[in-house]
Amino acid sequence: MMTSAIRNDWTLEEIQAIYDQPLLELVFQAANTHREWHSAKEIQVCTLLSIKTGGCPEDCSYCGQAARYHTDIKVQALLSTETVLAHARKAKETGSTRFCMAAAWREVRDNRDFDRVIDMVKGVNEMGLEVCCTLGLLTEEQAVRLQEAGLHAYNHNLDTSEEYYKEIISTRKFDNRINTINNVRKAGITVCSGGIIGLGETHRDRISMLLTLATMPKHPESVPINALARVKGTPLEDNPKVDAWDMVRMIATARIVMPASTVRLTAGRIEMTESEQAWCFMAGANSIFTGERQTLLVTPNPGVNEDMMMLKNLGLEPKLSKKEVSAC
Ligand code: SF4
Repeated sequence: MMTSAIRNDWTLEEIQAIYDQPLLELVFQAANTHREWHSAKEIQVCTLLSIKTGGCPEDCSYCGQAARYHTDIKVQALLSTETVLAHARKAKETGSTRFCMAAAWREVRDNRDFDRVIDMVKGVNEMGLEVCCTLGLLTEEQAVRLQEAGLHAYNHNLDTSEEYYKEIISTRKFDNRINTINNVRKAGITVCSGGIIGLGETHRDRISMLLTLATMPKHPESVPINALARVKGTPLEDNPKVDAWDMVRMIATARIVMPASTVRLTAGRIEMTESEQAWCFMAGANSIFTGERQTLLVTPNPGVNEDMMMLKNLGLEPKLSKKEVSAC
């Protein structure tokens, strides 16, 4: 019998009370919730590919791809469709069931580059992978085009709380993010939205961000929780390293308030030990990003072989895609 139900009427105080529990109590509760809604031995393995890198006009203060910061990141124009499809094929061969394509754009423009992205979505979808894109702000019409091409999910992170947002990004507003998420929903695409910890925010900001996600009319199907990857040349390069227990606490709280969602342990894994990642899985994370080039967009990430070994050590298995399950 399910003891945890989907709720969209959480209050800040309720989420705060969950978040502030003694850590072991919190993890125990999250692990129980996790087992009610998901197979605890399955981890979805995803691949994230940067299809257009750097030169972004936005000023997200954590991001090495913003043109205004002096980072070592090499600007790369939109990759060819063939190149992207070759990466997707490789990702599938190495166990990924979800392939996410990221472009460092402020917003999608109705031009030939968008037409090419549409072709990429069609091609990846035909391989039987869940296709996800993160391309910046999106109109409803553009979302419909992506949906018709076979897009399964659109990633648009809140990054942080509404209150702290202006400290991190000045070139757009929190409401712009919410509008895009609404456009994605209206088009019938699933939503991938989470945030980053370690930006200098308070615990209250973290809870507030979870409140925004958990009180959406429908919870995001996918909730990535990132630890800040400190990129040299960005305003946040000297921020302290995120404590692994903070990641565990954040993941556990996300798991409890959004029980059916896939909670993704995303950036920052490179600085975590295998044991620390195991705690995150215990707390309800059920997805990781991996990559053949040992990068997550433009920051270091464990490689696919290392990840497969970790899953094996922990008795976990890569989750099959829906198509693979029906073939079984
Ligand atoms: S996070 Fe995205 S929008 Fe912000 S600067 Fe980086 S690429 Fe641009």
